[in-house]
Amino acid sequence: MSDLIHHVEAVRQRIAAAAHAAGRDARTIDLLAVSKTFPAEDVRAAYDAGQRAFGENYVQEAIAKIEALADLRAALEWHFIGPLQSNKTRPVAEHFDWVHSVDRLKIAQRLSEQRPDNLPPLNVCLQVNISGEASKSGVSMAEAVEVAQAIAALPKLRLRGLMAIPEPAGGIDEQRVPHRRLRELFERLRENGLPLDTLSMGMSSDLEAAVLEGATIVRVGTAIFGARDYSH
Ligand SMILES: *Cc1c(COP(=O)(O)O)cnc(C)c1O
Repeated sequence: MSDLIHHVEAVRQRIAAAAHAAGRDARTIDLLAVSKTFPAEDVRAAYDAGQRAFGENYVQEAIAKIEALADLRAALEWHFIGPLQSNKTRPVAEHFDWVHSVDRLKIAQRLSEQRPDNLPPLNVCLQVNISGEASKSGVSMAEAVEVAQAIAALPKLRLRGLMAIPEPAGGIDEQRVPHRRLRELFERLRENGLPLDTLSMGMSSDLEAAVLEGATIVRVGTAIFGARDYSH
């Protein structure tokens, strides 16, 4: 468990170093700890290390964890970051604070309709397919402006920004290319009048490149919790 505290601290230091290199204030970059496949006790240990925002990919697993940690609910922020099917939107609308993986208007409409009235608007990011591969989820760069404008008009959502999962790349210069593309799109949307403040990009292996290109949330799993085991 004390490993976890050291890992969280090491990731915070990586973010601080990248922010310094970019001439940015490290406080403008939030660390989202991606706890998918790890048990509620690990989330609690990360909470004890000062971590507050957690990312989850699988609806049932996430809801079980949120319920197991109900005593911390007011202190924690839960972010859904995985692929979301339209028949699974309701529990996400009811239990999460954020959804980063909105990849089509229909999902956004359902989340807005299903967001309970007693909760604040659900914070969402539009996921963009920056690598242009047919197999990847996310709206295309070409569709993004129109879809973002439609999402921004939904009553129970607050469109905060953009999210992407770039293809893994070796060097930092290569890693910066897709992150830069997402930032340029983000700037274009802001010029079009959308009040966006969030660029969700960067993971364990490329968070420095993402911070250099303007990330405001980095989503880090492996570097905090260790390698994931999908065998069970
Ligand atoms: C799993 C996951 C992460 C974390 O990836 P690591 O490489 O373990 O840091 C970040 N974002 C998304 C969307 C993920 O699914």
